[in-house]
Amino acid sequence: MSGAPFSFQLTHTDGAARRGVMTTPHGEVETPAFMAVGTQGAVKGLTHRDLDGAGSQILLSNTYHLYLRPGDALIARRGGLHRFIGWQKPILTDSGGYQVFSLAERRTVDEHGARFRSHLDGSSHLLTPEKAADIQAQLGSDIAMVLDECLAYPSPHDAVRASMERTARWAARARRRQEQLRAGSADGVIVTNAGQAQFGIVQGGVFPDLREESAKRTVDVGFEGYAVGGLSVGEPNAVMYDVVARTTPCLPVDQPRYLMGAGTPEDLVEAVARGIDLFDCVLPTRNARNGQLFTSRGRLNIKNARYAEDDRPPDPDCSCYTCRSCSRAYLRHLFNAGEINASTLNTLHNLHFYLDTMQRIRNAIAFGRFDSFRLAFLQALSRRNGGTDPPE
Ligand SMILES: [Zn+2]
Repeated sequence: MSGAPFSFQLTHTDGAARRGVMTTPHGEVETPAFMAVGTQGAVKGLTHRDLDGAGSQILLSNTYHLYLRPGDALIARRGGLHRFIGWQKPILTDSGGYQVFSLAERRTVDEHGARFRSHLDGSSHLLTPEKAADIQAQLGSDIAMVLDECLAYPSPHDAVRASMERTARWAARARRRQEQLRAGSADGVIVTNAGQAQFGIVQGGVFPDLREESAKRTVDVGFEGYAVGGLSVGEPNAVMYDVVARTTPCLPVDQPRYLMGAGTPEDLVEAVARGIDLFDCVLPTRNARNGQLFTSRGRLNIKNARYAEDDRPPDPDCSCYTCRSCSRAYLRHLFNAGEINASTLNTLHNLHFYLDTMQRIRNAIAFGRFDSFRLAFLQALSRRNGGTDPPE
């Protein structure tokens, strides 16, 4: 642990697209960056060595899952999440809210917080903005997220307004708690990463007026970075892009911006074009386990019978281990045979494709040719290529 305080330095801009460096207590992250999702402290199917080899700069882990099992106190006694899982690069943790709203049973929400039952054993828990900050302090991630309220899409304007206002009040409570944790005045909490940053979350659904107000109220509280939440929940792509485009101008230029839960390769490029710096999504890893590969020419379903005797690599333009050593025919066989390796090899490829795309985005921004990159990237994705599935 370098112990460097959190900071963000913009190095290049190209239109609304930005390239920068985020410094954390566990090292630097070049942005725009994609975070692989390591729900239980591991990316499913991969070792940390694989992640490192693929160029992962930062890992996302889920507070809800780690809080329920093995417990944040147990992890704090092991010295924090980095030491517990053996990953010494930056980690971002979510607040646990999204899983409480999507996974937990018998959930009730009021001004105080969210009461829920564990999906594992039915035990009762209360997640408040303060508790979410405490759990993440014990985990010791480099970036902690505030607890926000997640509404279903679509929801009417008045419901979204009420929820956005509650999220803003929760943000202020989360920040006060973070300041107590930093001052060492939170009894019973083991702070395992003194340099932990905290990001606020802009809500407001698909309503521009609410997004603008949410951004202003969140920025007024004051955080080290800002996330755009509540998107990638079923709204049309064009709506998501429009909300992002209207929200980023309301955020400070000199701080990182994180689009939570997005998305497809197209989403990454389109959101960078609208000023986003950080992403996370389960798509590359989850779809890999289901046999869907992201390639530079669109998506490819390895289960498809047409690949039974196809000797080509999944993506001829990819330099990952899977593409260098495996044919589509072999990967299809492994998938059909239910081999564990099918998940590992497919995940290695998909993650490599996402991380390589981010590297190409960063290079394009640095050279002032992001727009031409974006056009060529999107055209290639939608181009039919003999043997490769058309995009879905
Ligand atoms: Zn590959």
